[in-house]
Parts: sequence; structure tokens; C-alpha cells
Amino acid sequence: MQHFPIFLNLRGAHVVIGGGGDAAFAKLRLLLKTEARITLCAPAFLPEISAFRPRVTLVRRPLLGCDLHGARLVYAATEDDAEDARIRVIGQQAGVLVNVVDNLAASEFITPAIVDRDPVVVAIGTEGAAPVLARKIKARLESELPAELGTLARIGKGFRAMAEHLPKGAARRDFWAEFYDRAGPSALAAGEDAVRETLDTLLSRHLAKDPAPGHVDFVSAGPGDPELLTLKARKLLDRADVVIHDRLVSIGILELVRREAQIIGVGKEGYGPSASQSDINTLLVNHAAQGAHVVRLKGGDASIFGRLDEETHALDAAGIGWQVIPGVTSASAAAAGLGQSLTRRGRNRDLRLVTAHDMQGFAEADWRALAAPGAITALYMGKRAARFVQGRLLMHGASPNMDVAIVESASCPDETRLQTTLNDLPHAAAKLRGPAIILLGLSPRRAQQTQTETELAL
Ligand code: SAH
Repeated sequence: MQHFPIFLNLRGAHVVIGGGGDAAFAKLRLLLKTEARITLCAPAFLPEISAFRPRVTLVRRPLLGCDLHGARLVYAATEDDAEDARIRVIGQQAGVLVNVVDNLAASEFITPAIVDRDPVVVAIGTEGAAPVLARKIKARLESELPAELGTLARIGKGFRAMAEHLPKGAARRDFWAEFYDRAGPSALAAGEDAVRETLDTLLSRHLAKDPAPGHVDFVSAGPGDPELLTLKARKLLDRADVVIHDRLVSIGILELVRREAQIIGVGKEGYGPSASQSDINTLLVNHAAQGAHVVRLKGGDASIFGRLDEETHALDAAGIGWQVIPGVTSASAAAAGLGQSLTRRGRNRDLRLVTAHDMQGFAEADWRALAAPGAITALYMGKRAARFVQGRLLMHGASPNMDVAIVESASCPDETRLQTTLNDLPHAAAKLRGPAIILLGLSPRRAQQTQTETELAL
């Protein structure tokens, strides 16, 4: 990020625009939304600009250094490159931040695209990379943010001191969430006074409530792509006080967590004995016991090889409430990446999700069933156990030519798909770097096409 977004307080500040034509007028219109003192300097002005006198001061000559005394910002908007460059130098000499219209390289600050629901203001910038994209985002936000949002926020702002009677944290947040999500918008139809009355009633109701007890949401983070989160997961990430996440949860997903939330990475490996499990249980219990809304974020689906039960038992023992939000497991994402079905009529009527690891090390499975022709198995945490699995399957009659598909970092930008056979599985697994699902019995879609068509026709 080269340009850091900030909101500058322009109340009473002096802003100078060099220019009197269309470019100057465009900036003026934006600046008129603020409470800045605005001066324009140019030999001539559009009548639309002159119409704003006396709100703005017009100086009928080119901008000079003395115009910038005490100024906060200066815009070079003369539509003449040489003149803009001259203003830029004057601005820099005066120590005032300069924006040269349509000249990113020459500007010290840039004005973002703005969605204005004052006091709610959304600023969109692409650092000059994609103005068209900025306009598209703006159009989308304009249509998504109701026009009355500003009115609600303004009335809400006036009520903030009252809302401080509620305990800080979840209780206060729930109050405001109810106001902005439901109570506020429906009251506004009857006018601003109705909104103020609603705030009073809502506050009394929330003050009468017992403080919300802490609880834990086990949220499935999916295989990595933030768009594979459920809507429920998104909402909970947005409300969490504390987020405790595993190593496999992607940065893109952590970026969706509420900004004020405390984020704790517990770095638990997805396999093998984990010394920190009891520490994790203690963390969950302690935070929830203090009344926090805790999100325990687990990769893929929380209920699959996620050691969910150890944690839910600990919470039950401490009398803390919890719920599980299901999600997309990595085997589903891997199959989607391959364009394959995990079950198919005529091929396999069951699907096994298997881990080759347990607390003691390599784990046994129903190898005979896994080795049977047509069987499909999604092997989790299989990288290190590849040779062990291969040995067991061959011992139980599997063909060395059994198809094996491997999907590494499924759904992530670096997703890789690999096709191999049981014979070559250890060799292929040795090359893996990221998390991988090994799909025993699956082959590339194209090779299977004819076979599938024959089977489906039966
Ligand atoms: N609860 C998770 C599984 C946790 S066990 C789920 O439902 O997916 C950790 C194992 O999941 C990893 O060793 C790997 O086998 C698999 N895994 C997790 N994320 C993955 C991804 N993006 N691509 C491929 N495999 C993944």
C-alpha cells in the first residue's frame, strides 16, 4: 500500500484550488461537502464556480505563494501541465500537501472515490491502478448502502453517550447491531422522532437484559478461499471478540475478522499428538468465561479431523455454551478442483474420509475396503504416511495401477493438481509442500469420461 487512507478533519481548514475550469469545479464540488474554507485562484472562472460565492473565495489571477499561507491542501487543477507544475512547486515550497489533478506521480495525496452517507463515508482507492474498478465498486456500494444510512448514523451518533450505560463490549455492540439492522430502518419510515423513541425503548430493553454470557462458536473456515465461507461464518467473524485459529486458516479469511477482535493463532499442526490441545481448551474456556464471544476457527469443516470433541467436552465441563457452523471440507474443494464427483452410480456408493495419523502415529483403517476396485477414499494428512498407506493397500490386494489424484492447497491461488498411481504415491507425496488431499481411486476427468458415459447409460 503506497497511499495510506486517512480521514482529514477539514473543519475551518484552508484549502486552495488553482484553476477555474471543469477540473477545478469537480474538486470544488467534493470539497463543498466539507467545512473547509475554500479559495480558488485563476484568471477566469466558470459561472458555476462563481455561483458559490461567498461560500468560496475567488482570486482572479494565477495562484501565488502568498495564497498558501496557513493552507492545509492545494489542488493544481488548471488543466495546463506547465501551470500545474508551477503550482506544485509553490505548494511544496510552502510545505502544503499537493494534489495535481490526473497526475498520480506528481501528487503527494490523492482524492479517493467517495460513497457519501454522511457521517458514514466510504473511500475507495486503487492507487491509480484501476479507476474503472473504483467506479464499479462505488456503483455497487451506492446501490447496497441505503440512502437513509446517513440519517440513522447521525441520530445514532447523538445517542452514543446514552448507550454508554450499557457495559462495553458485546452488550453495547448487540444494541447497536439491533438498531442498525432492524429497529432503526423500520422506525425511520415514521420519521426521525420515531427513530429517537426507538433508541430509548431499545436501550431500556437492553439494559434490562442479563449480561450476555460468553460462548464459543466453532466456525468452519473452509479450505482457504474466503468465498467458500458460509454467510453464518462471515457474520460471526464480524461479531467476534476473540478469534482462536489453526495454522491452516488463510490470511484472506483472517482479514475478515472484526478489527477490534483479539486474534490468537494456536498454530496447531493438523496431525500427530499436539502438546497444546489442553492449552487451547483452557484458552477457550477462559475467554468465554469472561463473557467474550469466542470464535474457534478451524480449517475445512470443523467436524472433520479437527479435534472438535476435545474442545466441546472442555466447554461442557465448564458450563459454557457453544455451537458448530459447518463448512466446506478440503476433500470437497479438491474434488471440485478436479471436476470430479466423490460418489458415482456404478462406481462407488460410499466414500471414506480417512486420516493416516492418530495420536499414536500411523493409523490403521479398513484397508480391504479401501483397496477394493472402485473404492474412493479421501486421505487427509496423508503426506508423511504415503508409503505406509501404499504398503497397506498393496498388502490388501489393491492394484499398483490404482488411480490417485492429489490436490494441494485446494481452492487457494496456488492450488496444484497431480495425477499418479498407487505405485508412485510415495514419490509424488514427497514433492508436496502445502496441505494436500490424496484421493485414492480418482483419475483425471477426461480419462474417465468414456467409462462414465457407459456406466451412466446402464
Ligand atoms: N477440518 C479440515 C481437515 C483438518 S486436518 C477439513 O475439513 O478439511 C488437516 C488436513 O486437511 C491437511 O493435512 C490436509 O490433508 C487437509 N487440508 C486442509 N486444507 C487443505 C487444502 N486447502 N487443500 C488440500 N488439503 C487440505
